[in-house]
Amino acid sequence: MKILVCISNVPDTTSKITFTDNNSSFNTSGIQYIINPYDEIALSKAVDLAEGGKATVTVLHVGDASSEATIRKALAVGADEAVRVDAPARDASFVAHQIAAYAKEKQFDLILTGRESIDYNGTQVQAYVAELLNIPSVSIAKKLTIDGNTATVEREIEGVKEILTASLPLVVGTAEGVAETKIPNMRGIMSARTKPLEVIAAVDVPSLSSIKSYETPPARGAVQLIDKDQVAQLVERLHNEAKVI
Ligand SMILES: Cc1cc2nc3c(=O)[nH]c(=O)nc-3n(C[C@H](O)[C@H](O)[C@H](O)COP(=O)(O)OP(=O)(O)OC[C@H]3O[C@@H](n4cnc5c(N)ncnc54)[C@H](O)[C@@H]3O)c2cc1C
Repeated sequence: MKILVCISNVPDTTSKITFTDNNSSFNTSGIQYIINPYDEIALSKAVDLAEGGKATVTVLHVGDASSEATIRKALAVGADEAVRVDAPARDASFVAHQIAAYAKEKQFDLILTGRESIDYNGTQVQAYVAELLNIPSVSIAKKLTIDGNTATVEREIEGVKEILTASLPLVVGTAEGVAETKIPNMRGIMSARTKPLEVIAAVDVPSLSSIKSYETPPARGAVQLIDKDQVAQLVERLHNEAKVI
């Protein structure tokens, strides 16, 4: 089985997010990048599925050379090879077209993405890729098993567990529960240095949208402490100030 894992390079969750250029660009200065946590789950699942030589795992990232450390970490976790599409990942359509073009050429049985990126939170790439390849896709998978040519996927919907099957080739967006996130060991880190990392040119994709500006939410107000005996005052403030009741 050939597995492709799509990796997004996202700011560390503790990063302070600010903007430049009149709030039209994300300020990358001083930002530490990590593998998108949902993509780490996807990668860990792929490595589990490949155990004992049952599959090969290729990771693909769309982005510039600054993401090399993220890609090498993915190789250290256990991917066999990596591909970087050498272009800024300007939006979900662009990213999905790059992934689909590569997948079309190389013919993967299983394409794993995260359920969403934790920076732009678009939740678009997985379904977009499947649509471009004209193959099935399942979003927000909580469990994934493969038996021959059939995948069984568990999803959680409001108060219910949904279990569905789909035939390969398939695109799955992975969430918590699909696999335990793997931490690279020393052997993995050493071998990652020599594993193949191919850099390829992007395919042309028309630009369908552009970011106009970003706005940060208003700063939180100070916490007000109200004495436990002052219920009337609490109700008055929730009604007149917070306007939640
Ligand atoms: C000017 C600009 C430059 C950017 N440069 C980069 C960059 O260099 N690197 C970068 O990672 N992001 C970059 N981004 C962010 C990039 O646009 C988003 O990753 C992309 O739009 C998908 O976002 P999304 O929230 O729709 O993804 P979602 O649909 O929420 O992502 C779902 C899954 O798609 C896959 N995926 C998402 N992005 C990528 C990617 N870039 N490569 C491979 N798989 C991916 C992952 O598996 C992810 O879990 C840039 C954004 C802008 C505006």
